[in-house]
Amino acid sequence: MDLIRNAIRDIPDFPKPGILFKDITPLLHKPELGPVIVNGFLERLGSHRPDAVLGIESRGFLFGYALAQALKVPFVPVRKSGKLPAKTIGIEYALEYGTARIEMHADALQPGMNVLVHDDLLATGGTAAAAAALAKQLGATISGFAFIVELEFLNGREPLLPFSKTIHSLVSY
Ligand code: AMP
Repeated sequence: MDLIRNAIRDIPDFPKPGILFKDITPLLHKPELGPVIVNGFLERLGSHRPDAVLGIESRGFLFGYALAQALKVPFVPVRKSGKLPAKTIGIEYALEYGTARIEMHADALQPGMNVLVHDDLLATGGTAAAAAALAKQLGATISGFAFIVELEFLNGREPLLPFSKTIHSLVSY
């Protein structure tokens, strides 16, 4: 996983002063790293096979879809408010300042499905927890979470544990 770690660039004070942004765009420049990420997730999942992968806008689409393809299961996009065209369900959640709303299509999951929630990075966990809550609203079960990067010092696992104890990250800081 050093290949992944070395391809992630630190951008200080983005998008605001005091935030050290983990930029995955250099990683996208190296096509050979795509399979390293997908296979890293597959190894960690072991024999577990979710029924769908849920990816969070927008960087969660990149490897979420690739992972779903590798698993041969549906990919479900979770988007920011107002982007999805069909009937949606949505949830508001707290950010450091203010709130945000994410949505998914109301027919995207069926009750009883086991869903893996994916995003590029786990920070405070608010976004992934909100996505998990949305999937639960449709009767799905959260089988686990998968992130490329985890910022451990922000304790983002905490809000995810009520949904699933299975939390995978490829690279931690
Ligand atoms: P959170 O809800 O705090 O876990 O934030 C997760 C979302 O914000 C993910 O979609 C990340 O892509 C993005 N994010 C939060 N903090 C950072 C960071 N330091 N570097 C890059 N992306 C971040």
